Amino acid sequence: MAPNYLKTGEAKASHGTVPTVDVEGIVKGVIADIRSDGDSAVRRYSEKFDKWSPENFKLSKQQIQDTIATVDKQIITDIHKVQANVRKFAQAQRDSLKDFEIEMEPGVVLGHRNNPIEKVGAYIPGGRYPLLASAHMTILTAKVAGCPHVIACTPPINGIIPNATVAAMHYAGADEIYILGGVQAVAAMAVGTETVPKVGFLAGPGNPFVAEAKKQLFGDIGIDLLAGATEILIVADESADPYVVATDLLSQAEHGPDTPAILITNSEDVAKKSMAFVEELLPNLPTNALAGTSWKDYGEVAVVGDMDEAYALADEYASEHVQILTREPREALEKMTNYGAIFLGEGTCVSYGDKCIGTNHVLPTRKNAIHTGGLWVGKYLRTVTYQEVTSQKASAELGRLCGRAARAEFFEGHARSGDLRAHKYENDSYDW
Ligand code: NAD
Repeated sequence: MAPNYLKTGEAKASHGTVPTVDVEGIVKGVIADIRSDGDSAVRRYSEKFDKWSPENFKLSKQQIQDTIATVDKQIITDIHKVQANVRKFAQAQRDSLKDFEIEMEPGVVLGHRNNPIEKVGAYIPGGRYPLLASAHMTILTAKVAGCPHVIACTPPINGIIPNATVAAMHYAGADEIYILGGVQAVAAMAVGTETVPKVGFLAGPGNPFVAEAKKQLFGDIGIDLLAGATEILIVADESADPYVVATDLLSQAEHGPDTPAILITNSEDVAKKSMAFVEELLPNLPTNALAGTSWKDYGEVAVVGDMDEAYALADEYASEHVQILTREPREALEKMTNYGAIFLGEGTCVSYGDKCIGTNHVLPTRKNAIHTGGLWVGKYLRTVTYQEVTSQKASAELGRLCGRAARAEFFEGHARSGDLRAHKYENDSYDW
């Protein structure tokens, strides 16, 4: 049965947020200028977009300490607690990745190792809110992966250094901290300037400008994934509490004016009550200007025939966050595969993932969940292979096989490397 939409927004048609300006063109120009003019272009754009032009974008050790000293003690305690959760889960993921060797046959050894990336850039967004949790997710995870050098950038908020974010960046293990935002930060780290070192890999979420910059700079650097403006999708059955559904839809809608917030349910009653609660709750939400705009433009409510249809439709959206509010939430693990992170049952919620539970909150948006998962230690590792053949007999056999395989592709040079070993190890003469 076709879903019955009680409310539609832009989200389904556009695969996510619809840019209202030429994001691609703006980003292209900024990158080109930073490539040619380095620091002076970085400063020019920081002044233009953030009205921010300090003597140094990089914080000194003293500035970091002074900034942290201004942070509320409870916030510092909570940063440590949340970072302990993120570290514990990331470490368990790291431990699940084993280097290994296999002896294919006597004397023929193949193996793989996971080598951390040497120089990593972490972008911690913060144009609107101080997203300190993104510091745990990007910097700390890189450190658990074993990356020796992590430089991290975050924007000022209304011309002020976000002190709690700096604390989170420092305790996460950042080796260098810059107060620098948007495309200018991403481009500076990717191409390197007189004062900002070039990195090999860049991770972190951000607004559409940041996501576009990472996309355009891929190749100069490696990137984790395109983690743009956030999204939430709730799958609910008739057992769901509409007040919880409405509260959780709004929890993500407040991120920006462009947050897809989708409800899919088999219950028209739950759908209607949830929509009514959204309207009731919105006026009292201090962030209602953003949440209300998102809900108006990107909110969708679909009523489907049964739960199988609900899971299938949810998989089509391939949303960043999927929350399951049903009698059998674990069923979704079997029925769905397209999501960045899934939250099973009423006991948890997307906000736990965003802020504190320990899973990584840097996740694919705009249907990128179809082909990629979110940030984790594995993204900071290069899985490399090696091989060694210590048996002359085995090498001679491989040499003959290599010779035939290479000649089938008309690669005579390759074939001779194989021939050479086959002849040499069989005490034969070999004439080039
Ligand atoms: P941000 O740090 O991503 O972007 C702020 C920067 O954008 C500013 O420093 C400024 O330089 C630049 N900018 C603003 N307007 C511009 C313009 N017109 N042209 C060029 N540059 C411009 O912070 P934000 O804006 O608050 O956005 C944070 C985003 O991160 C939100 O969309 C949120 O949903 C998203 N997010 C995504 C994930 C994920 O995993 N997908 C996680 C957390 C946050």
